[in-house]
Amino acid sequence: MATHRTKMLIIGSGPAGYSAAIYAARAMMEPIVVQGLQPGGQLTITTDVENYPGFADVIQGPWLMEQMQKQAEHVGTRMMWDMIVDVDIAGGSPFRAIGDSGDEYIADVLVIATGAQAKWLGVPGEHEMGGKGVSACATCDGFFYRGKKVAVIGGGNTAVEEALYLTNHSDDVTLIHRRDELRAEKILQERLLNHPKISVLWNKTVESFEAGPSGALAHLNLRDTVTGDASTFEVDGGFVAIGHAPATELFKGKLPMDDGGYLLTEPGSPKTEVPGVFAAGDVTDHVYRQAVTAAGMGCMAALDAERFLANLEIDIDGHAHAAKEAAE
Ligand code: FAD
Ligand code: NAP
Repeated sequence: MATHRTKMLIIGSGPAGYSAAIYAARAMMEPIVVQGLQPGGQLTITTDVENYPGFADVIQGPWLMEQMQKQAEHVGTRMMWDMIVDVDIAGGSPFRAIGDSGDEYIADVLVIATGAQAKWLGVPGEHEMGGKGVSACATCDGFFYRGKKVAVIGGGNTAVEEALYLTNHSDDVTLIHRRDELRAEKILQERLLNHPKISVLWNKTVESFEAGPSGALAHLNLRDTVTGDASTFEVDGGFVAIGHAPATELFKGKLPMDDGGYLLTEPGSPKTEVPGVFAAGDVTDHVYRQAVTAAGMGCMAALDAERFLANLEIDIDGHAHAAKEAAE
């Protein structure tokens, strides 16, 4: 068990965490990134990425995240393969975090970039066909289903927006919902129900995703929630859109969150309610949820952190304390 002292601790190693690290390291903040259980974040569980700017050819998600990690390390970031299990932010800067390893991290500023995870149905075939017909992100993967038949599972705003978005690529989009009434806002419902390329299958749950001979998704096994009847539904792409869960358990009661558990920040800024604590990426964003937006927020967090540090007083050990504390 060791104590690691740093100017900036970044919790999370997705595009937000790595981008914050690149900026912070180049500003001589000697950041530490605690990577968590999924080093590289959500993009490590996908294949083709076509919308991250800077690459004319299709790139692979795991490769992109490997490059981001190397870039952050090259400029001076320390990577820790650990998982933060507790944080103490109530007393202000410096902040304290405890890793699953038992190690302690003490930091003058904290960047929370723990992301969010799509909720999955947890039915057979779903995990096995991830990237081979099953997805949880139409903006990311819709393009791969140009001219094909797709289904979206869910009845909330996300599902309806995913279905509407998919009509840019497919003329045959079906929304599958477990009830006969959508949870989505009325205006979105209207757009969906009046769209010529979208049909709705009411009162159906997906019991399993079935592969064809190629190993890619071929059809869904459905169950009617009213009659109990079983049926199959042929489809090339199945988009699960039943919500996202931000990884904010650690911060319950410590930082303000919205009803969905997303960390609240000042509008247009990564600043949380606690000075010196910043939130970036999907952990604070239920709207855009893209690698490029997460990376942008990571950059903003590092720049704001640099300004915050500049306003702190440095003690004889070279570590910062909030000017307000020094004044007390
Ligand atoms: P994440 O990538 O979610 O990373 C969160 C990080 O936090 C992880 O490293 C995790 O280990 C760490 N963490 C969590 N809790 C702790 C803890 N307690 N201690 C330490 N670390 C912790 N976006 C696109 O722009 N283009 C695409 O093509 C695309 N495709 C996608 C395909 C799939 C299948 C999925 C699921 C998402 C896709 N996205 C895509 C969305 C994109 O991946 C996310 O928007 C982006 O990864 C969010 O970045 P983030 O840094 O905020 O968080
Ligand atoms: P949500 O509102 O919780 O809706 C989830 C949907 O998935 C519900 O229709 C639910 O069905 C269904 N569902 C959940 N678990 C399921 C399961 N196991 N099997 C089948 N269906 C299942 O989630 P969301 O749509 O992601 O929205 C989350 C929040 O973000 C909401 O507050 C939403 O308003 C907001 N949001 C806003 C916008 C926007 O403003 N444009 C866009 C996206 C999201 P039931 O209805 O039967 O429960």
